[in-house]
Amino acid sequence: DSQPMTGRVAVITGASSGIGEATAERLAELGATVALLARRADRLDGLVERITKSDGSAVAMAVDVTDAEAVQEVAARVAGELGGADLLFNNAGVMLPAPVEELRFDQWQAQIDLNVSGLMNVIGAFIPQLVAAGRERGVADLINTSSIAAENIFPNFAVYSATKAYVMHLSRHMRVELGSKNVRVSAIEPGIVGTELQSHVTDEGAQQWLEGSKKTIEWLTPEDIAATIAFIATLPPRVNLQQVTIMPTAQA
Ligand code: NDP
Repeated sequence: DSQPMTGRVAVITGASSGIGEATAERLAELGATVALLARRADRLDGLVERITKSDGSAVAMAVDVTDAEAVQEVAARVAGELGGADLLFNNAGVMLPAPVEELRFDQWQAQIDLNVSGLMNVIGAFIPQLVAAGRERGVADLINTSSIAAENIFPNFAVYSATKAYVMHLSRHMRVELGSKNVRVSAIEPGIVGTELQSHVTDEGAQQWLEGSKKTIEWLTPEDIAATIAFIATLPPRVNLQQVTIMPTAQA
């Protein structure tokens, strides 16, 4: 039982599809016990079954991360059932690009609610566990999912990009606050990854832009990001990879 992540407890949000799902599988393969957070319980149960069949350890904890109280309850379950988290992959997010002039207040709010407020609900619920793990085990990881959209200008991605810039800058600040407590804080900025993320886009122009991109470049896979998260989490405790920008080779 000498896998690189044996004994670690990883909480993963957005675990029911895409990047979160692939990362849950990868970290479980490496020996971590994974707590799977997302709304779709059926998808989480299916993932638990797959991980368990391959001798991994996983628990489904269905939750809407925009509900702060519900997230607190899940954190109490992680503490009680798994002894607390030493890794948080704070990854649930939604991308709804559209020209600002379309005044999609609903979509602006949905992105802010999940990508900013939801992210903070999860941080607030799990920080005590991460700090305790830093103290007791010498290292813990908080990895937030940002996006290349935090750095570059993509037309009609203003609100999404701003939520991801929030994640980026928050992560830099939190790294400085928590490093002395042996909690490493990282942010990952992927370029385009083929997941369900694109399927929620309603704006026709943005849909066309994405379809054109898919035809002309080979997108990253969720497994590419999962491998990067595993790399970050298995570095020696003195090493904190602050920020990783990972792009499809052909994406400008
Ligand atoms: P997916 O749409 O495949 O995954 C999003 C995940 O978030 C799902 O598991 C979804 O599960 C979960 N989720 C959505 N709303 C909630 C909620 N209210 N509470 C709890 N969980 C929720 O997309 P990706 O895997 O691509 O996205 C993961 C992250 O990566 C996001 O933060 C995204 O912004 C970021 N990203 C993605 C890129 C890409 O090109 N794909 C590029 C750069 C960054 P459920 O619906 O079951 O709740």
